[in-house]
Amino acid sequence: LRLLNHSFLIKVFSLFFTVCAAGAMYFNYQYGTIINSEMMRNALATDTAEVAELLTAKFFLEFAFLCLPQLYLTFFVPIKHSSFVRGIFQALVGLVIGVCFLMLNFQGVSSLIRSEPVLRNLISPVNVFSGTYKAVFKDGSTEVDAPRIVIDPKPALGASHKNDKGTLFIVVVGETARLANWGLAGYSRDTTPQLRARNVIPFSKTISCGTSTDVSLPCMFSRVGRDRYDRDRILKEESLLPVLQRAGINVFWVDNQSGCKGVCKGVPSLSISKTKAPSLCSGPRCYDEALLAGIDTSEILKPGKTTVVFMHQLGNHGPAYSKRYPKNFEVFKPVCTDEKLNNCSREEIVNAYDNAILYTDHFLAGVIDWLKGLDGFDTGLLYVSDHGESLGENNMYLHGAPELIAPKEQKEVPMLLWLSKGFEQKFGLNDVCLREQAKADASHDQLFSSLLGILDVKSSVYDQNKDFSAVCRKSNS
Ligand SMILES: [Zn+2]
Repeated sequence: LRLLNHSFLIKVFSLFFTVCAAGAMYFNYQYGTIINSEMMRNALATDTAEVAELLTAKFFLEFAFLCLPQLYLTFFVPIKHSSFVRGIFQALVGLVIGVCFLMLNFQGVSSLIRSEPVLRNLISPVNVFSGTYKAVFKDGSTEVDAPRIVIDPKPALGASHKNDKGTLFIVVVGETARLANWGLAGYSRDTTPQLRARNVIPFSKTISCGTSTDVSLPCMFSRVGRDRYDRDRILKEESLLPVLQRAGINVFWVDNQSGCKGVCKGVPSLSISKTKAPSLCSGPRCYDEALLAGIDTSEILKPGKTTVVFMHQLGNHGPAYSKRYPKNFEVFKPVCTDEKLNNCSREEIVNAYDNAILYTDHFLAGVIDWLKGLDGFDTGLLYVSDHGESLGENNMYLHGAPELIAPKEQKEVPMLLWLSKGFEQKFGLNDVCLREQAKADASHDQLFSSLLGILDVKSSVYDQNKDFSAVCRKSNS
């Protein structure tokens, strides 16, 4: 800053740096958030409702407190003007002193940075600037408007679709549901009683592609996956959805969150009608049941045709877990109602989180019951969460940890499949075999080819090794 050699500029810049550092420090301190390009991309891609939940009165108080010393320096301490040469000299002296301090223990510092690369992301406000730079100029945003590369120009429907009955398949993209708190996965609390009663096929463990919606969502429905992760490529190629659509399936996306992150590009979106579900919506937010309540079957279902609807839940989106479910789902008490999780005990946080899982259980059971009751259609549902969540393990909260250090709570997610008898027959799928397959470890990388397989879409981008349903299907053609 000394190089600027102008007292006004120095003050403006130092205040700006302080404001950025204070914001980063607050989120790091309160939530264990690591500020890197992924986090900055999340921040830039978020919506106002999400931001409003984080900007609490306490945030402003603590933020202002962190800025106080700098505010004092800016407004009450004069900076003596000096010549340009003298400014450069002072800057150099500062630099030399800094380097000397570093050299005193260079080996220690360098090996620490190498063994704990995350430390780099804790240096504020450098983390904010480098993260924003990478998010904007290097890693690409999901909202880019350029046309996507067509990955298969001629996918086709398999023989199973030559049937008088129509098909409706729902893919529910869950939000922030972690395996550790999932009743069907053996959690000590039964957080999924309704799904259990519906005899769904639960996968025992599924690994998410990323630890945030912005990473996971595009990756889940891309043929690239975590194995060969390349964000640029994922965002340049079309997702699974346009492939299904080109094959002749009616594809829709309906969203109860901050958008589809580019996944639904090229396919029609249905919007949640707040007038159709007035009791489920208040302000900018709706409970997830609005996803179903707002659906107009006459709009999406065509007799004898296949339709796939992707539903993007609000799920367990934190930190306001207690706002994700109607009051009658508050089974585990007391709950944390403070968005600043540090003001709650861990028990209260987990209670609120578990109630939100109970509500997802109820929502999914409702979708299944609705599918069961649809006359003239063979139906099925696949549910999978986008990533997990930390609930205080090692003092970490929320999600978005870099891949390198992501704890398993943020990476292990629930997944399940439910198929009507008619669907199983039409697509030649064997229930017993699927249940056996579901016992093996699964991952988001399998979604792309498994959905092509389950829906009997013949495509050049299908990879049988990544289709968990392949061994359970008897060929119809
Ligand atoms: Zn998410």
